[in-house]
Amino acid sequence: MADKRTMTTSAGAPVSDNQNSVTAGEKGPVLLQDYQLIEKLAHQNRERIPERVVHAKGWGAHGVLKITGDISKYTIAKALQPGAETPMLARFSTVAGEQGAADAERDVRGFALKFYTEDGNWDLVGNNTPVFFVRDPLKFPDFIHTQKRHPRTNMRSPTAMWDFWSLSPESLHQVTILMSDRGLPVAPMYMNGYGSHTYSLWNDKGERFWVKFHFKTVQGHKHHTNAEAEEVVGKTRESYQEELYGTIERGEFPKWKVQVQIMPEADAEKTSYNPFDLTKVWPHAEYPPIDIGVMELNRNPDNYFTEIENAAFSPSNIVPGIGHSPDKMLQARVFSYADAHRYRLGTHYETIPVNQPKCPVHHYHRDGEMNTFGGIKTGNPDAYYEPNSFDGPVEDTAAKEPPLKISGDADRYNHRIGNDDYAQPRALFNLFDEGQKNRLFSNIAAAMGGVPGEIIERQLAHFDKVHADYGNGVRKALKEAHGYEANAVPVTGKTPQHAAE
Ligand code: NDP
Repeated sequence: MADKRTMTTSAGAPVSDNQNSVTAGEKGPVLLQDYQLIEKLAHQNRERIPERVVHAKGWGAHGVLKITGDISKYTIAKALQPGAETPMLARFSTVAGEQGAADAERDVRGFALKFYTEDGNWDLVGNNTPVFFVRDPLKFPDFIHTQKRHPRTNMRSPTAMWDFWSLSPESLHQVTILMSDRGLPVAPMYMNGYGSHTYSLWNDKGERFWVKFHFKTVQGHKHHTNAEAEEVVGKTRESYQEELYGTIERGEFPKWKVQVQIMPEADAEKTSYNPFDLTKVWPHAEYPPIDIGVMELNRNPDNYFTEIENAAFSPSNIVPGIGHSPDKMLQARVFSYADAHRYRLGTHYETIPVNQPKCPVHHYHRDGEMNTFGGIKTGNPDAYYEPNSFDGPVEDTAAKEPPLKISGDADRYNHRIGNDDYAQPRALFNLFDEGQKNRLFSNIAAAMGGVPGEIIERQLAHFDKVHADYGNGVRKALKEAHGYEANAVPVTGKTPQHAAE
């Protein structure tokens, strides 16, 4: 047998006995001086870090982004040039469930990507849906509260969910996707990913273009019905982890076709919808998807905690050639994701190996908890402020992006008035065949169990506005599932936005 290495304390001293505590006499008690015992117990107490408030349950892997198309006229981003191959990390997740929640639950899936480019990390923190439930970040914490546990019952509350959704008709588009077949994928490789937000690309002439990123599953879409998912969860809570891990271990690497939709900067003034509204898609007929390459996942993490739990994705991470947009939800996430990581992982979360850029990093941040990067990142101990005369790193104006042209008076604009929250859900509803429609109706009815009639009626009125068949289909399914009588309860109350109309 090969020589075994000697086990040590974390300070490096050899351990002589890892089976028996130090006790006063054979029958105990243990002595406080048994540092080995204390160190083991103390470490165990600190093995968990705060789980993410949302997207706590996740599955991830390493891979590569290969660019085969040519969008160099739109962007100088090195990772998007023809022939570029960029190492990357993906983390998929559910939104509402805690870390121990079952994988096969109906929920939106997170689709977070980190590309380790030559110019720094570029993160796309998307979902498996092209839109979201709200368009204004002021509503985000309220929305998430409705998805998490009720403070008194400590259970999920369908009443809270449908109350919020029925009072927030901008959610209809995402609710329709969530309750459709695509709301319960079989495993991460059988779903699309969408950057969701509008970002921008900019080129060497200083021209900006709006862009949407799409990742289309090459494996094809596969979904569970609610009944199938119940059976899966009865057997395993880890169906996604098993499938993603197993597939990659077997060398069957999942792939996604990468596409962009490009909108000339000036078009943002012309579209009938706000192209920066996260509840809207850009119709393919107007802005056709362009194939630009393939993303492949080909390596499982060696340590789930250090490579996936510690992974910190943030839309604040962009690189030259890629920019943000006026999307309000995007601005909030640019702040809030990095802030979440500072809280959850610590000030220097980007020095954790999985988050470290694979290009040189030079900055003047210093000190702080767990500063393990050797003081400061300037290459010279005298260059600890900027500007300095000691060859410290300096700015590079070549990385300056063109101005984001925004004008307008600061105000709290009501983006519900005059905003059509029904047309795009209608376009989606019209894509569904009879079977898809029937499953949509029954999924909604199942999710409405126990919800007060007043809230159900308010939501049915929204479905009616999308399409009469939508409202009537849900009514029929409600009757079948719960004996619910349509219009048995009068609709009361107006939504805040409609009261203002
Ligand atoms: P198109 O007919 O050109 O595109 C429809 C797109 O809808 C498809 O390409 C597909 O997107 C997606 N789709 C098809 N079947 C389903 C389904 N069962 N569940 C969810 N999505 C499906 O029309 P539009 O571009 O005008 O979009 C119509 C509606 O399709 C939108 O209102 C939106 O709800 C939905 N959609 C649109 C997307 C877009 O970026 N335009 C993206 C995804 C959905 P994919 O190729 O991404 O799978």
